[in-house]
Amino acid sequence: EADAGLLLELAKLQGVEDSRIDLDDTALTPYVKARINVLRCSRSCPYLVLCRFMNFQKRCMTEKFDFQITNHNYVLADLIGRKQGKRPLFPAYGAIVLDEAHKLLDAARQMYSTAWDEQEAERIVRLGAVNVRMTGMDELAVLQGRITECNRQIFDRLAGELSGSHIREENRTEIMIGPVERRYMKHMAEALEKLPFVYQKNGGQEMRAQGLKRRCHDLTDKLAVFLDSGKFICWMEKGENGRLALCAVPMELEQILYRDLWSRPIPAIITSGTMSVRGDFTHFKKMTGLASAAAARIQETSKPSPFDFQNNGLIYIPERMPFPNIRDERYIRAVMEEILRIVSAAHGHTLILFTSYWLMERVYYGLKDRLTAYPLFLMGRGRLDVIRSFRRSGNGVLFASDSAGEGIDLAGDILSCLIIVKLPFPVPDPVMEYQRTLYEDFDLYRRDIIIPEMLIKLRQWVGRGIRREEDTAVFSILDNRASLRGRYRAEILNTLPSMPVTDRLGDVADFIMRKKADSYFMDKEQEQK
Ligand code: SF4
Repeated sequence: EADAGLLLELAKLQGVEDSRIDLDDTALTPYVKARINVLRCSRSCPYLVLCRFMNFQKRCMTEKFDFQITNHNYVLADLIGRKQGKRPLFPAYGAIVLDEAHKLLDAARQMYSTAWDEQEAERIVRLGAVNVRMTGMDELAVLQGRITECNRQIFDRLAGELSGSHIREENRTEIMIGPVERRYMKHMAEALEKLPFVYQKNGGQEMRAQGLKRRCHDLTDKLAVFLDSGKFICWMEKGENGRLALCAVPMELEQILYRDLWSRPIPAIITSGTMSVRGDFTHFKKMTGLASAAAARIQETSKPSPFDFQNNGLIYIPERMPFPNIRDERYIRAVMEEILRIVSAAHGHTLILFTSYWLMERVYYGLKDRLTAYPLFLMGRGRLDVIRSFRRSGNGVLFASDSAGEGIDLAGDILSCLIIVKLPFPVPDPVMEYQRTLYEDFDLYRRDIIIPEMLIKLRQWVGRGIRREEDTAVFSILDNRASLRGRYRAEILNTLPSMPVTDRLGDVADFIMRKKADSYFMDKEQEQK
């Protein structure tokens, strides 16, 4: 993964005088960040006293507070830890406010899931392979060989099409753990149990033996989840670095959430700008287990957006788009031509959101030499530095995926034109496949799960466009299912904040002319002169 840009960023980090570095502000890839993050701290860490994280944990445990602010994952980690008899992360609290609650389900899927990286066993084998007396090598080598072989067999057998897949979107595949894989897992668990003892017996370093024991224990716990796979949705996932991981999430996650989070006798305020579909919270309650709470405990309220979308927004839905099919060259060409026209009508200042990385890159490289009037930016996975450059450009055009669709603040004129290439229907994944099996009728499943998720995401995306009272923006939807005869038009227009709708590109150009100040139409260089 070492590219020139990454090496430059790492070199910059070395020169940072302040010991505090916000990883979100760096250009490091998630792969590198995952290696910087500490999974488990050791009491022997030389930075223990100065460590911000440790001091933060201590402060969290103080009784002297009116309220504490933290993220969803930390709250869930506290609940999960308590269940397992671990030390709490907070003192007891009397009420909880969950802001940005539409992200709670994703946080829960992360926190309650298990991920077993294909390299985990190799790291354990390496850790147990050094500094031992030669006399014990045979016994140790047998165990190490068994762990490596079982790991290889399990991943080879379950990887299926993923091992050869080069289509980036298809990075998950549902798996069935059969009797043969189970047998390998059991053999591996036995070897993992013995390894730390054999290592220590043969003169392994005490400290290293402790670490080895912990890692073996962690991996054995994961194996136990996959051996009990009847209660879990299991899948194989291919990371950005091309490595495989076996993943599992409990089938009854909503019931677990109900027990851990909602059944406690404390009040909760659950709030978000995009939690309901037209004021209806049924989907959210169902997915997060809140539906199991007594109706008398729940009060609901839904308020319209505080922003004046009616005057400051315009929806543009062209009528000439073909059905969205990325295998259809005619469709791809139509997307490119439409983007060219919209960007020129809006004078840049555009964020284009894609649901497919492949299509995003195809369109970006297809337009690179044609859209020369504005700086263009392509946002790969997790590259937040690109957003900063886009913001600084003043009038650029950013090609981005889902990750830029929420949680990133692009207030002001820089985002005056948002293009949604395709309606953001949820991508089928093993969790959705499982949910699908709970419905006898596909239409009901579509009504209860697929359409609400698409509408909620669409509202989140549209929410990127107007972030302050004075912001003005055009929202273009290039999916013909939103057009006049489109299947989802009525639901989409009922869900989005109320604002004028047009299919005339001239209206887009007029809107921008009417709403924007002179400085908007100067490019950045002119403005600086
Ligand atoms: S104690 Fe702090 S500095 Fe040491 S490993 Fe843990 S997080 Fe890092």
